[in-house]
Amino acid sequence: MEIKTNYHTHTYLCKHAEGKAVDYVIYAKKLGYKAIAITDHGPLSDEILTHFTSRRMSYDEYINIYLDDIKEAKKETGIKVYSGLEIEYFKSMDSYYKEFLKDLDFLILGQHYYYFDNHYHNMYDPASIKSINAYKDAVIDGMKSGYFKILAHPDIYCIKYGVWDDECKKVAQLIIQTAIECNVLLELNANGIRNSLRKKMFYYTNDGHISYGYPKYEFWKLVSKSKAKVIINDDAHYFKYLNDDATKEAYLLAEELNLNITDKIE
Ligand SMILES: [Zn+2]
Ligand SMILES: [Zn+2]
Repeated sequence: MEIKTNYHTHTYLCKHAEGKAVDYVIYAKKLGYKAIAITDHGPLSDEILTHFTSRRMSYDEYINIYLDDIKEAKKETGIKVYSGLEIEYFKSMDSYYKEFLKDLDFLILGQHYYYFDNHYHNMYDPASIKSINAYKDAVIDGMKSGYFKILAHPDIYCIKYGVWDDECKKVAQLIIQTAIECNVLLELNANGIRNSLRKKMFYYTNDGHISYGYPKYEFWKLVSKSKAKVIINDDAHYFKYLNDDATKEAYLLAEELNLNITDKIE
């Protein structure tokens, strides 16, 4: 399968990625990509940011820099350039999503933080049955809100949970079912492969398949038995990560599982 698109791309504004939007677009053109979306981590509300620190652009940067950077990137010809953000869903931020969608082509739901038991949980905090269910509730609310086209790394809840058990499976089934109902694309995320290999966060399943921190093989095996639509994204935090070995590995996994892949977001 040819790799011609990437709809999940970060920029220097999130403070943990390199390069401007236009750098990624120019490199994607060199690779022969036909479409790319710039979707840096979106700004969280001041209220939410009083509860934890996060590496994100600020709302001011979004308005005064990001939108101009995207305008500059969209001037490139020979490739379709979409605009977006990757952002968590919090009900209290409802008016923000409406505002973003006036400026941008689409939003990606990337739930790295979620609220439960009177605190904000980070996906890298130790996980429990309770925390993975809180993740599931947050992304289901997000998908049902109608603001999001893609659910980024839906299986990120497994990263600190360790084992794949019945609880993981139950959470997966509810996420997959809601994605189908809400017509949200499930993202097979190449950056998970990139990071899992680097941090040695993977294991082999009983039937000999590699299962990363995410993408979790067991999760995608369940997806393969469903009608859910899948999109494969680089989640690039550096332009040279576009179409690298991790990307190729993600495409191989999707082919092996015969996932219902789309390379269009319209
Ligand atoms: Zn990031
Ligand atoms: Zn991302």
